[in-house]
Amino acid sequence: MATLGKPQNTIEILQKYHFNFQKQYGQNFLIDIRVLEKIISAAGITDEDYVLEIGPGIGTLTQYLCERAREVAAVEIDKNLIPILADTLSPYQNVEIINKDILKLDIIGLVKEKNQGNPIKVVANLPYYITTPIIMELFESHVPVESITVMVQKEVADRMQVGPGTKDYGALSLAVQYYAEPEIVANVPPNCFIPRPNVGSAVIRLTRHQKPPVQVKDEALMFRLIRASFNQRRKTLINGLNNSPVVPYSKKQVAEALKELGLPVNVRGEALTLEQFAQLSNQLCR
Ligand code: SAM
Repeated sequence: MATLGKPQNTIEILQKYHFNFQKQYGQNFLIDIRVLEKIISAAGITDEDYVLEIGPGIGTLTQYLCERAREVAAVEIDKNLIPILADTLSPYQNVEIINKDILKLDIIGLVKEKNQGNPIKVVANLPYYITTPIIMELFESHVPVESITVMVQKEVADRMQVGPGTKDYGALSLAVQYYAEPEIVANVPPNCFIPRPNVGSAVIRLTRHQKPPVQVKDEALMFRLIRASFNQRRKTLINGLNNSPVVPYSKKQVAEALKELGLPVNVRGEALTLEQFAQLSNQLCR
């Protein structure tokens, strides 16, 4: 099978099947061999790996994954792409095409059945409209993952990587960094896709921490505090938490906890590191 990373091969397949792009599914197909090779090498796929690909499209990245992995599961929501995938992936015996919404799939069940519950690698050129829910679902529902190597909107990749004191810092940065080590491995311009997206993209690899970088007694509470403080990021932390219906602590309790941690009472949430959010939640749940 000729690589779909070459634009003329992709165009040929799209014409053969009279394929119409569905905007609501975030369909931007990769047409750049160097970018595809970059994703594959950043993901470090070996012939022992079970790989989950989210949104295979016409199978461009999937072909590369099938060449290297032991087994690939490719989950695609658009039923019109299923016959195309059956065609473009016909040379490979190590791929299962699953016609489902990734947010409705029992991924843990799949990993138990196909990989004995051992950590998998996730590789994808993600549909941008659901990047954050997909990544949060993988982490928060504790799917056994070793790494997640994905193409996302450049701005979202930046948000995952930054620390306090920058405008991009927020709940996504803290969640990603609690679970994984992020590293942007490539910046990708719009002309590497068909159709071209309106924004720049980046490939980011999230390598799961063996153990969390901070000690937290109540993970769920820490994330409630984080979300509440960034929901109102212009407010002080005390006011942000006080206005939140899901944070059951009074202004006085929060002020006392901040004092214990040596933080000023008028500090904003956006100034706190992951370590400080962990300490704050440990202090409050005492
Ligand atoms: N992997 C292909 C490539 O690199 O050329 C396509 C990437 S395209 C950015 C995103 C793909 O995700 C599309 O094929 C789209 O139909 C699919 N998709 C969108 N929402 C999805 C969902 N909820 N579950 C599974 N696939 C989805």
